[in-house]
Amino acid sequence: MPKPLIYTGGLAATNAYLVNLGDHRIAIDAPEGFLDFLKEEKIKPDSLLLTHGHWDHIWDAADLADWAGCPVYYHPDTAFLCLQPDSMLGFGLPQRLRPVPATQLLEESGPIPASWGNARLLLVPGHCPGSLCLYLPGPGQLYGGDVLFAEGVGRWDLPGGDRAQLLSGIRKKILTLPGRTIVYPGHGPATTVAHEKSSNPFLEKEV
Ligand SMILES: [Zn+2]
Ligand SMILES: [Zn+2]
Repeated sequence: MPKPLIYTGGLAATNAYLVNLGDHRIAIDAPEGFLDFLKEEKIKPDSLLLTHGHWDHIWDAADLADWAGCPVYYHPDTAFLCLQPDSMLGFGLPQRLRPVPATQLLEESGPIPASWGNARLLLVPGHCPGSLCLYLPGPGQLYGGDVLFAEGVGRWDLPGGDRAQLLSGIRKKILTLPGRTIVYPGHGPATTVAHEKSSNPFLEKEV
């Protein structure tokens, strides 16, 4: 499986990804400028997955879904942010955004769209309630949102954040994946599970 197409943009330099599953393309997150990027590339995604509802990840989501005519997916626990983005004006959101209704809410162990094949969803809250990671076991790729970064982890000081929950979720659900799994995070460069296991300062000791 080829590498995903990567877009980085917006005030928080947020990563969005376009994953090509062969006959189905999943866009992961929608920072500012991602829609223009897709228009230039002339690629309409078939699905939009929002890893979580923080403003830097949903900025273009409503417009992108309208333009592509594609369904939008996220976890129920992050729906309040997606449906009431103005609630984030108190923490970093510089202007009003369009609410993003879900076509279907996805749970960790519930059904996923059939066209996503053997993909799996991991629920790893602690940075934000309802943070989902998309794991593709075949190519060994994890699209993690703001959960795990290269030698870092997501911040836990925003509303609904919880450090212990975040770190234990990463240990239980991500560090147990095969070491060669490539982690594509919401910010910064890609990394691997093996590298984070050995070199991530936040994960050295049990909390
Ligand atoms: Zn976030
Ligand atoms: Zn972010």
